[in-house]
Amino acid sequence: MSGSALFPASRLEDAAERVRTGGLDALLLTPGPDLRYVTGYDAKQLERLTCLVIPARGEPVLVVPRLELAAAQASPASGLGLEMIAWEETEDPYALIARRLGPVGVAGLADQMWALMVLRLRDAMPGARQVLASSALRDLRMRKSPAEVGALREAGAAIDRVHARVPGWLKAGRTEREVGTLIAEAILAEGHTQVDFVIVGSGSNAASPHHEVSDRVLRPGDAVVVDIGGMMPSGYRSDCTRTYAIGEPPAGFLAYYQVLKDAQEAAYRAVRPGVRAEAIDAAAREPITRAGYGAAFIHRTGHGIGLESHEDPYIVAGNAEPLSPGMAFSIEPGIYPGPNGARIEDIVVCTDEGGERLNNAARDLILADG
Ligand code: ZN
Ligand code: ZN
Ligand code: ZN
Repeated sequence: MSGSALFPASRLEDAAERVRTGGLDALLLTPGPDLRYVTGYDAKQLERLTCLVIPARGEPVLVVPRLELAAAQASPASGLGLEMIAWEETEDPYALIARRLGPVGVAGLADQMWALMVLRLRDAMPGARQVLASSALRDLRMRKSPAEVGALREAGAAIDRVHARVPGWLKAGRTEREVGTLIAEAILAEGHTQVDFVIVGSGSNAASPHHEVSDRVLRPGDAVVVDIGGMMPSGYRSDCTRTYAIGEPPAGFLAYYQVLKDAQEAAYRAVRPGVRAEAIDAAAREPITRAGYGAAFIHRTGHGIGLESHEDPYIVAGNAEPLSPGMAFSIEPGIYPGPNGARIEDIVVCTDEGGERLNNAARDLILADG
């Protein structure tokens, strides 16, 4: 048994422990972030079943289609001392798993398992109540190990390097789409293996938080919200927003931009172990509401990040989860009064002492020459 610092072999036993303490009989993980978290195996999602079976008691097994066996053996999963069973094209892998497990009362299924597999597992194990794997894995995945924090730190530095190049691309006369293409190339050039999203919201599009890109032509006096992220070779994600202005910012913009910057700082300063996730949201919302922009802050303050761009813990009113060291999440308040808007987003890790920002590009309004 070995594994790596990022995907240690102890994860299998940690997961089995959570299966037992969570009152489950087995965890069934098809390709996706849960499987990658436990084994390091970045398996393809296919109609043929690949499934890591972790029983509450007994040895885990990775069930793979015969033609995927070589890929599974070449993956980090092979360093875990994990039994692999290859099924032939004419076999029924669902029946194979049901036979192997015997009677199952409660089965935890990977949160992102396809319905195709959920329903076939239900048919193969009609006595099993199906619950989400996150009921067992959530606490583990939320608290990042030092190696995971290191991977997120690398991702943060990579996306910071992209933001450092953005002002040079924000030229009046270019379209959002043209700028977005340059940014996507840079996300890869700066070390990511995948572009997750590129938002270039200019002018009135800056007031729409999940706008992507359009053929709108940039003009002097535009505010531009640039929210970008990707996946590193480690599997860990970046996500960072900065707001730019082309030439002079629009009328009235600087007043609320300063409020936003103060709010993002206040939320960051509120991060420490024991503070509830919802208190971070409140810390961001309070100065924005006090300044009269409360109705223009139309989304939660943040989301956890790791092997997924959006995962637990969510920084939102109603989430009483206390922060603990290793939790990593975005702090991304926004103010969208129209006809423009602004957002500032950093990934922050909770440490013993407080928060550590993983994005360190300047948070002032960045003026591009245009
Ligand atoms: Zn978002
Ligand atoms: Zn973002
Ligand atoms: Zn985000």
